[in-house]
Amino acid sequence: MTHMQISRDAFIAWITAYAGIIQQNKDYLTALDSAIGDADHGINMDRGFQAVLAKVPTIVGQDIGAIAKTVGMVLISSVGGASGPLYGTFFLDLGRALAGRQELTLDDWVAALEMAIDGVIRRGKASVGEKTMLDSLVPAATALRQAAATGMSFTDALLTAEQAAQAGAQATIPMIARKGRASYLGERSAGTQDPGATSSWLLLKAAADSWAPTP
Ligand code: ADP
Ligand code: MG
Repeated sequence: MTHMQISRDAFIAWITAYAGIIQQNKDYLTALDSAIGDADHGINMDRGFQAVLAKVPTIVGQDIGAIAKTVGMVLISSVGGASGPLYGTFFLDLGRALAGRQELTLDDWVAALEMAIDGVIRRGKASVGEKTMLDSLVPAATALRQAAATGMSFTDALLTAEQAAQAGAQATIPMIARKGRASYLGERSAGTQDPGATSSWLLLKAAADSWAPTP
């Protein structure tokens, strides 16, 4: 499956799968945020992705870049809090990287993910180690780039990225938050996995799950 490509329909399937995973993990994400934030991360993400789901019928005929851009705009307009603009920027920049594309190769996906992460960094001014969504996104992108460079299949590369994101999310547990609401707690923010790093890991998991080839 080295030459596997992600179609527009598969791209929409990823978004749809993520909306489902967020709904299933809404209480979990909110519980993490209740420990170190204001107990709304699951609620925010679920509100945003339910709004995205409602838009899916209108985006079916569009190219992948336009689809991602629509997702970003819906998130920005429907989600308050830090995560709305940050995930919104992620999808807007993903859309910019994939403008006009009807399908994606692994190399396209690596480059687009990196651009989307750069958008989150520009918007939120956080860096790795500050207990944010970047702590799962950045290791995932690094793993994905390495996987692509070594000629790994798209499917295996997605799994590798997902595992790196999961490990990155788990690695936020002992971290002290330096950005966002959790930073108000100072050292008391240590001991809980970051909600945003967790929802970002799930985004990579949704990609690995929904883009695995069906035998
Ligand atoms: P809020 O903090 O406004 O209540 P959410 O609870 O929805 O928003 O999202 C919190 C998550 O947002 C955090 O767990 C963290 O991962 C992420 N986050 C907060 N600030 C930043 C930032 N400056 N850069 C990147 N991610 C951030
Ligand atoms: Mg919150």
